[in-house]
Amino acid sequence: MLRTGETICSPATSGGGAIAVIRMSGKDSIGICSSVFFPFDITAKLEEKPGFTITYGEIRQEDELIDDVLVSIFRAPHSYTGEDAVEISCHASPYIIQKILEVLVSKGAVAAQPGEFTMRAFLNGKMDLSQAEAVADLIASESRAAHRIAIEQLRGSFSDEISKLRADLLHFASLIELELDFGEEDVEFADRDELRDLVNKVLKITRDLSSSFSLGNAIKNGVPVVIAGLPNTGKSTLLNRLLKEERAIVTEIPGTTRDAIEDVTVIDGIMYRFVDTAGLRETGDIVENLGIRKTLEKIMSATVVLLLADMNEGTAAMSALLEGVREQVTGQDKKLIIVANKIDKDPLYNRDNFVSALEMKPEEKVLFISALTGEGVEDLKQTLGEILMNERLSSEDVIITNIRHYEALVQVTESLERVLSGLEDKLPEDLIAIDVRQAIHYLGEITGEITTDEILGNIFKNFCIGK
Ligand code: GDP
Repeated sequence: MLRTGETICSPATSGGGAIAVIRMSGKDSIGICSSVFFPFDITAKLEEKPGFTITYGEIRQEDELIDDVLVSIFRAPHSYTGEDAVEISCHASPYIIQKILEVLVSKGAVAAQPGEFTMRAFLNGKMDLSQAEAVADLIASESRAAHRIAIEQLRGSFSDEISKLRADLLHFASLIELELDFGEEDVEFADRDELRDLVNKVLKITRDLSSSFSLGNAIKNGVPVVIAGLPNTGKSTLLNRLLKEERAIVTEIPGTTRDAIEDVTVIDGIMYRFVDTAGLRETGDIVENLGIRKTLEKIMSATVVLLLADMNEGTAAMSALLEGVREQVTGQDKKLIIVANKIDKDPLYNRDNFVSALEMKPEEKVLFISALTGEGVEDLKQTLGEILMNERLSSEDVIITNIRHYEALVQVTESLERVLSGLEDKLPEDLIAIDVRQAIHYLGEITGEITTDEILGNIFKNFCIGK
C-alpha cells in the first residue's frame, strides 16, 4: 500500500450533481494534466502556473474533445497531500469521468486506492493520524453532534491533548532514566511525590478520555434508545410521534424482517437509534406479558432507556418492571428517563401520587406526557439531549469516538496504574521505566508518532476512494 513515487488519480466526488471533481496528486500531476489539457488562453501554460490558480480549457484524447473543464493547481507543499496536485472540475457524467481518468492513466498516472490521498497527507506531515481519521468521520457525519466531534478532532484538539500527556510522561521518563544512569549511586533526582502527582494527573485525563468513548461512539453511530414499558402504555405511539416530527431515516438491514428495521432520527442535532422496539410489542407467557424479560434484554444494548408508564393503570406491575430496569441501569453508564404517559386522560393518579406510588428516587428523572396529543413531548426531546450532552458536548472536553484510540488509551491507563503501584511498592526504577515507556508508546500510536504498515493499512482501507 505504501507507494509514494507514483502520481495517483481518482474521482473525488460521488455520483450525481452537475459537476464532478477528479483529483490527482504526485510529482508528475501537473505535467500529466498539461499533456491532455488545452487552455482556451493559448498563452497559458499549466506548468508555469503558480499554486491556487484555476485555468479554463478542454481535455482531449488525441483529437477527440472530452469536456470543457477547470483545472486547479496546487504546488507542494501547499496542497492537501503536501505534493504537487491538480483538481479537474468536469461535467458529472460517469462517461466523462471515466474518459478523463483513462487519459490520465494513459499518460502515467495510477488509480488511487481508498484513503491514499489522506495517507499521503499523513506521511508528509500535513496532519497526524487522529486528524486523518477525523477526515473519514467528517465525511460520514450525519448529525450536528457527530460533525462537531469530527471537526474538533480534525482541528487537532484531541492530538494536542495527547501530545501534552506524552510530553509530561517523557519528562517523567527522563527523570527516572537519569537515576538509572547513576546506577549504584542510589540518587533520586525525581521527588517521588511529584512523580506520583504527575502520573495521577495523566491518569485522570486518560480515564476521562476512555470513558467518553461510549458516548462518543453512540454519537457517531446513533445513540441507542430503548422505549420500554408494559404492553399498551403507548410505546409505539411515542415512537411514531418522535419519528414523524423529526427527520426520520429508516435504514433497512439486508436479510432481516421488520423486527430489525432500525428507526433512526435526528433530534436537536443528535442522532438516535431506536433499538428493536418492535420486538417488545407482542408477548406470550405471563412473565413475557409483563415484558420484563425482553425489556431487560433490550436494555443491555441501550444508552438511554425511556421507561413508559400509563398514568391510568395500577402501579404494581410497573413497580416490578422499574425495579428490574433500575438494576440493569445502575453503574452501567446508561440513562433512565421515566415517562408517565396519557396525561390527556383523566388520570388515576395525580403526579405526586404517581411518583410516590412508584417509590421513585430523588435522582430519577420523570416526565409527564401525552404521546397521543404531543403534550410534553417537546420537554422529553430536550431532556434527551440534555442528559446526554450536558457535561460533555457543551464543554470543551474532548470526546473520543474511535475504537482504536479507545484501545490505546486503555493500554495507557493500565501501564500508568502499574507505574503508580510500582511507586507505591518502591519498585526499582528500571521496572517503573518500562511501564512509563509503554504508556508513551501507546500515546504515540494514537497520533501516529509510532506506526506500522499494518496500522496504516487498517485505517486507510476504510476510507472512500478519492479521499
Ligand atoms: P404499546 O403497546 O406500548 O406500543 O402501546 P400503543 O402505542 O400501541 O398504545 C396503546 C393504546 O394506548 C392505543 O390505543 C393508543 O392510541 C393509546 N395511547 C397511546 N398513548 C396515549 C396517550 O398519550 N393518551 C391516550 N389517551 N391514549 C394513548
